[in-house]
Amino acid sequence: MRGGWWRALLAALLGVAAEALAGWLLRRRREGSAVREALFFPSRATCVEALLAEEGLAPPRPCACPLPHQESPLSRLLARLLSARSSLDLCVFAFSSPQLRRAVVLLHQRRVRVRVVTDADYMALKGSQIGILREVVLLFIGIQVRHDQETGYMHNKFVIIDKKVLITGSLNWTTQAIQNNRENVVITDDKVFVNIFLAEFEKIWEDYNPTNYTFFTN
Ligand SMILES: [Zn+2]
Repeated sequence: MRGGWWRALLAALLGVAAEALAGWLLRRRREGSAVREALFFPSRATCVEALLAEEGLAPPRPCACPLPHQESPLSRLLARLLSARSSLDLCVFAFSSPQLRRAVVLLHQRRVRVRVVTDADYMALKGSQIGILREVVLLFIGIQVRHDQETGYMHNKFVIIDKKVLITGSLNWTTQAIQNNRENVVITDDKVFVNIFLAEFEKIWEDYNPTNYTFFTN
């Protein structure tokens, strides 16, 4: 009797250990899965309504709009952005694309912490989506936006998703750039690059902290 009890306990413990090991291996494999993607623009206009549909509000199927319902560099970029679960740190010079603005707002609604750094001069131009972003308030929490106060431009174009994936390249977030310009975007989860860009983001974020503004110090 006694021997049988021990054997059962041992078998149970081995089962638990095997399960833990399998879980650990699976996590390691997932963490090791490298994200390496390059997108090239211009992107032909495709329908991105399905991607941008708010949760529980799927667009009518089949979508009746005249645009092709296919993958495109823009749809891949949007899908990558919308994969964010905890944070989106965005540095972009020009931001006038309504689709990209909708993606950012959607993430904010999903409780993803969104921080936006942009250029003060471009921000003031007609068509900029920054003003709209600033007006989005959900449960008293708005999207945080900071801008430069320098004579040079805040000309970076990069995004860090969940502090794990870096998206960087030449693309401004404008319909003009997306549909007409030759641009490149690199997407990587290389830890070295992600951390370097994250450190730079934090530095710029702090440099553009309104409490550090020097407008009034003569
Ligand atoms: Zn459509």
